Amino acid sequence: MKGRVLVLGSSNVDLILRIPYFHRPGETIQGENPIIVFGGKGANQAIASKHSGGEVIFITKLGNDSYGRSYLRYLTKNGFPSKCLLKDKELPTGMALIELAPKGENRIIVSPGANGSLSVKDLKRLIPSWKGIKVFVTQLEIPIKTVKTGLKIAKKNGAITVLNPSPPTRLPSHILSLVDYIVPNEWEAQSLTGVKWKSDRDIQRMAERLLGRGAKNVVVTLGSKGLFFKNRRDEFWMKAFKVNAVDTTAAGDAFLGAFACALSRNKSIEEALGFANAAGALATTRLGAQPSLPSRRQVETFVKKNKEKSG
Ligand code: ADP
Repeated sequence: MKGRVLVLGSSNVDLILRIPYFHRPGETIQGENPIIVFGGKGANQAIASKHSGGEVIFITKLGNDSYGRSYLRYLTKNGFPSKCLLKDKELPTGMALIELAPKGENRIIVSPGANGSLSVKDLKRLIPSWKGIKVFVTQLEIPIKTVKTGLKIAKKNGAITVLNPSPPTRLPSHILSLVDYIVPNEWEAQSLTGVKWKSDRDIQRMAERLLGRGAKNVVVTLGSKGLFFKNRRDEFWMKAFKVNAVDTTAAGDAFLGAFACALSRNKSIEEALGFANAAGALATTRLGAQPSLPSRRQVETFVKKNKEKSG
């Protein structure tokens, strides 16, 4: 039977500007093509999970400003229950200022705004919404106390817990032991464990450390190299699909959302990771974050085509 996915996390408005080069303090330069899009890891993963066919609840906090109001309309239109879309009375909506230089490098300033006030009290007020939750997903763009309480409530309700430790922060064992699947990319895994990434063996070491600190399953995503999975019994590598990548923004979010959705449909670990691997690859073939998140049908067609090619 299909269960529900609950995503707890951030919503940011992304202001994206193309710039000719990274300028010096005091210097004014001209940017091009300013665009404003809805982002934030929580929102991206909630939308990704919904596009993948999940029944999704999203708990987030927006600001009391025009960005917050239009974000709220957008999320409601996408079918997320409005009682879980909270609004701070004073703080602005979270914002990311993204400078994109010609060779694809970026520089980002994130201001959490209302995301920083998503509190334990807020979560406790919403406890009735947790009924029937099969998979719980969260990241680290909201206060760590709220993350920990979310994980605890999820475990109490018998849900599978998934943590995307991004941006990486010190994670004590009492938090990691509440996590069924920790899903960092290779840089986040390096930062969390202190193991320097030089070879495949180092990726295995990172996973061993995270298991040693209490996580039950570790998935390290490796961009165009695919992923590495490890728990106490098994470990395996999964190659990435070969695609023509144009923008890797939100590949990780597409991966997480699709993975959570597959787990909520009782798929095995291999099946869920295979589906997520395809969703991540497809997200890199289109520009932007939320606009690039693929639908369930697109992922299934893509997997079928790739099977035909390799078979
Ligand atoms: P993040 O976006 O968090 O840095 P990754 O870059 O590791 O995460 O990407 C997440 C997943 O998306 C990868 O594990 C893989 O499945 C897929 N992916 C990312 N980049 C590519 C790529 N260039 N080609 C194919 N798949 C990719």
